[in-house]
Amino acid sequence: MPLRVRLTLWYGSALALVLIIFSVVLYAMTARNLRDAVDESLEDTATIAVRSLEERGFLPLLNERELLSQFPELARIDKFFQIFSPSGTITISSPNIKHHDVPLSRTALETAFSGHSIFESAKYPNEPPLRVISVPIMYRGNLLYIVQVGTSMETVGETLRRFLILLVVAMPIALAVSLAGGWFLAGRALRPVDEITLAAQRIAAGDLTQRLGMPPAQDEIGRLAATFNNMIGRLDASFRQIRQFTSDASHELRTPLTVMKGETDLILRRPRPLEDYKGVLESNLEEIDRMTRIVDELLFLSRADMGEVKMEALPVALEALVEDVHRQARLLGHDRNIEVVLGTIMPVVVQGDDLRLRELLLNLVENAMKYSHPGGKVEISLLRERQEARLAITDHGIGIAPSDHKKIFQRFFRTDVARAHTKKGTGLGLAICAWIADLHNGRVEVQSELGQGSIFTVVLPLAPSPP
Ligand code: ADP
Repeated sequence: MPLRVRLTLWYGSALALVLIIFSVVLYAMTARNLRDAVDESLEDTATIAVRSLEERGFLPLLNERELLSQFPELARIDKFFQIFSPSGTITISSPNIKHHDVPLSRTALETAFSGHSIFESAKYPNEPPLRVISVPIMYRGNLLYIVQVGTSMETVGETLRRFLILLVVAMPIALAVSLAGGWFLAGRALRPVDEITLAAQRIAAGDLTQRLGMPPAQDEIGRLAATFNNMIGRLDASFRQIRQFTSDASHELRTPLTVMKGETDLILRRPRPLEDYKGVLESNLEEIDRMTRIVDELLFLSRADMGEVKMEALPVALEALVEDVHRQARLLGHDRNIEVVLGTIMPVVVQGDDLRLRELLLNLVENAMKYSHPGGKVEISLLRERQEARLAITDHGIGIAPSDHKKIFQRFFRTDVARAHTKKGTGLGLAICAWIADLHNGRVEVQSELGQGSIFTVVLPLAPSPP
C-alpha cells in the first residue's frame, strides 16, 4: 500500500476516533446539563409551591383555583403539579394534567415519609417522558402533604435528537473534509520523495554526475537529499579515483614494458657483439626490478585497503630504529655520494609495528637521498614534543612546489621535477608512508620549497607510559 494511502488512513482513523469520543462526551454532557436544568426548574417551582402552602398555615386546600389565584407563578403551562395526601391520593392537581392521572410511586411515598425529596422519570405510552419531583411537607415530624411538580421532557428530547442528527451528519462531513486535507498534505509532503526516487533512478542508470535538486527547506527531506547528494559525490569521487588509479597503474607498468620491448627489438634486428646483449639484458633487469617494485607496492596497498595487512601494537623504541636505518642508509648514500647524518636524537617510545615503522622511515630516507643532488646531505632527527614523537628527515634536494604538497601522497603522483631528476620511483612510496602513519594515529607533514630541499616529519603519539 503506498505511503500516501497509509498516512491518510492512519490520520483518518485517528481523527474518526477522536471525533467519535468527542461527540459521545459532548452528547452525554449536553443531555446531563439539560436534565439538570429541568430538575433545577422543577425544584424551584416545588419550593414556591411548598412555600405557598406554608404561608397558608397548612390549611386544608379547597381546590386548585384557590391556590392558583393566590400563587399565579404555579400556573406555568409547561409544568403541572399535584398535591397528595400522606395516603398517596390526589387532593389537588393543576388543570393541565387533567387528561390522565400521574400516580405517586411507592418509592416517592417512602422517601416522602423519611422527609426527603426525590426526582423521578416516568413514561406513559404514546407520550413524551415526564420528569417529576416529589417534595414532602412535614409539620412537627408528621407528613402533611406531598407536593409533586412535573414537566414533560419533550423539548429536551427534541433538542437532544436534533443535536444527535447534527452530530451524525456533521461527523462524516468533517471526516471527509479532513481526509481530503490529509490526502492533499501527505501528497505534498511526499512529492520530494518521489522526486528523489526519480533522480535516484537516473543516477542508478549510471550517471554519477547527477545530483538531486535540493528542496528549499532544511527539513527531513532536505537533509535526506543532502545526504544522498553527499553519498553520490563520494561514490563519484571514488569511481573517478579507481579509474584514475587503473589508468595510472597501466601507464606506469607500460613504460618499462615499452622500454624493454624497444631495446629488445632493436638488438634482435641483426647480430651484435655479446657486450651489447649483456647491456640490454642489464637494462631489462632494471626495468623488471622497477615493475616488480610497482606490483609489490600495489599489492601491499590493495591488501591494506582491504584491511588484510596486520599491524602489531607493541612499544617501539624509535631511537634504536632510527640508528638502524641510519646505518643502512649511510652505506647506500656512500655509493651515491650522499651523506646521511643524525641530528638530535631523543629516546622516544611509541606504540606500533616495528617493521612498518622501519619501512616508513626507510622510504622517507630513500626519497630524501633519491631527490638530493650528488654531494648532498640528509639529516635524520628525533624529537619528543609534548605528547608526540617528531621524526624529521631533512634534505637539500630538488624540493616540492607548495601546490604539490598534498598531491604527493596520492598513488602514482610524481612531480615533473622528480620525473626529470630520476627514473627510479613508483609514486607509491608516500601513499604507503601515509597509510602506515595513519594506522599509528599519526601523520606525515611536509615542508618544502622547489629547489631548496624538503623536510618530511612523521608525527606519532607517544606510547602510553606503563603504570
Ligand atoms: P616515488 O617513488 O616517486 O618517490 P613517492 O610516493 O615516494 O614516490 O613520492 C611521490 C613524489 O613526491 C615523488 O615522485 C616526488 O615528486 C615527491 N617527493 C617525495 N619525496 C621527496 C623529496 N624528499 N624531495 C623532493 N620530492 C619528493
